[in-house]
Amino acid sequence: MAEPFHTIKKPSFESPNQPFDSTLKHIYLTFDDGPLNGTANCIIICEREKVAASFFQIGLHQSRSSKGRKLYEQIKSNPSLFSLSNHSYSHAYGKYMWFYQHPDSATLDFLKGQAVLAPTNNLVRFPGNNAWDTKDAKKASWLVKPLAHKMDSLGWDVIGWDMEWRFNKYGKPMQSPETIALLVDSLFEHNQTKTKNHLVILMHDHMFASSADSIKLEKMVGLLKKRKHYQFDKITQYPGLKNALN
Ligand SMILES: [Zn+2]
Repeated sequence: MAEPFHTIKKPSFESPNQPFDSTLKHIYLTFDDGPLNGTANCIIICEREKVAASFFQIGLHQSRSSKGRKLYEQIKSNPSLFSLSNHSYSHAYGKYMWFYQHPDSATLDFLKGQAVLAPTNNLVRFPGNNAWDTKDAKKASWLVKPLAHKMDSLGWDVIGWDMEWRFNKYGKPMQSPETIALLVDSLFEHNQTKTKNHLVILMHDHMFASSADSIKLEKMVGLLKKRKHYQFDKITQYPGLKNALN
């Protein structure tokens, strides 16, 4: 099969701009399921706070409206701060069992997502499932293992998460910003992340659609920024990826 991806050199931690510091704790803010209502606030807050963030987008949400495409373009236009990756074309249309039981058609769905979203990396996140498949990080339940193997053989990295800022039935953040910041501290302190000193937070764009809820995101980011040795990175900077891409 032809190589579907470009090979771009990954930024080195030993570059003059980013000296290697083993005491650093790396935080990856990841926003799923956009473009949606809420995506604009995620963009504005991360730009205002100057923190890196990663968007796992759904091809269908990008392509169905001009508003979706505009938000997508906004993210793509700031590659120094943001990375954009494939979260499938259809998000399995919510039928996760069927999706994962048919890895060939699931792969086609991701290829369609890749064609629509045109990311400059080969990172994917599975819909509704916390699976990992990088060079160093592996995690897949029996249900998603066939798809994870297929993705691996095609050279894709599957990215999961270490903790989630969950949402309630109204799509709003369940925990307070303070609780989330303390959970980050605790996971680092007890070395309960997939990769030591690297922590991936899952959030969903729609959680921050209202101004009251977007203030919570800004508060949480502000609390983490105050911690010594915490640094925000794009998910493309996560260690142990199969292909060095940005
Ligand atoms: Zn999702």
